[in-house]
Amino acid sequence: MIDQSNSCHESANLVEACGVNYTYGSGHLKRNVLSDIHFVAKRGEITLLIGPSGSGKSTLLTLIGALRSCQNGSLKVLGEELLDINEASRIRLRRRIGFIFQSHNLVRALTAIENVELVLRLKSNDSIFRYNKAYEILNSVGLSEHVSSYPSQLSGGQRQRVAIARALAMEPALILADEPTASLDRSSGEEVIRMLSEMCYRRNAGAVLVTHDLRLEKYAKRIWRIEDGLISSY
Ligand code: ADP
Ligand code: MG
Repeated sequence: MIDQSNSCHESANLVEACGVNYTYGSGHLKRNVLSDIHFVAKRGEITLLIGPSGSGKSTLLTLIGALRSCQNGSLKVLGEELLDINEASRIRLRRRIGFIFQSHNLVRALTAIENVELVLRLKSNDSIFRYNKAYEILNSVGLSEHVSSYPSQLSGGQRQRVAIARALAMEPALILADEPTASLDRSSGEEVIRMLSEMCYRRNAGAVLVTHDLRLEKYAKRIWRIEDGLISSY
């Protein structure tokens, strides 16, 4: 049951999904992976999306990030309705979201600090400011000694931290992260979530995190569980 305080019509909502279904394939290969999803994520909060492997978590996260097209139902993200959104608005919306995805690669030809500076270009023309800011954020995720390394010279966990630094540098209204702590050890995993939750609180932003890591529950205001394509508030 969806509790009324989570209803789909509140302005503090960064994400509102109402009656969203999603199907992969067609004909006899057709497979329904999300059924009648109702979901809300609010400002200032970390929202967790949990559930077994193959339950549809990443599919929902990529729908929210406008990385795949909504097929039906209503999905509002940062005030934009994604059902039938045009391409220009979709691109504009994606720029307002910070993605921390395993598959969302860093620019391989740029060093760690250049990858972070890249997103700061949207904010400032001052290259010294950008360098210092990028350095400060990389330092805060424990990468001060690797600022000049290229992605190929970093471990999976370090690359993940660069992606997190990039999302933090952007200071977006909404961060979407798919298994953000999967390649991190226990203490850096918690540190990253602590930083994300501090940013959400300070900037009145929100984050939706897909995770298997139940230690993160204490940082979340809202937990949703998906199982066999059905969602429930946990
Ligand atoms: P989760 O992130 O919870 O592990 P996913 O959203 O990745 O789940 O996948 C949900 C279901 O959809 C799985 O059964 C998966 O095999 C299937 N699936 C995911 N991506 C595709 C795709 N591109 N084409 C067809 N089926 C897919
Ligand atoms: Mg997944």
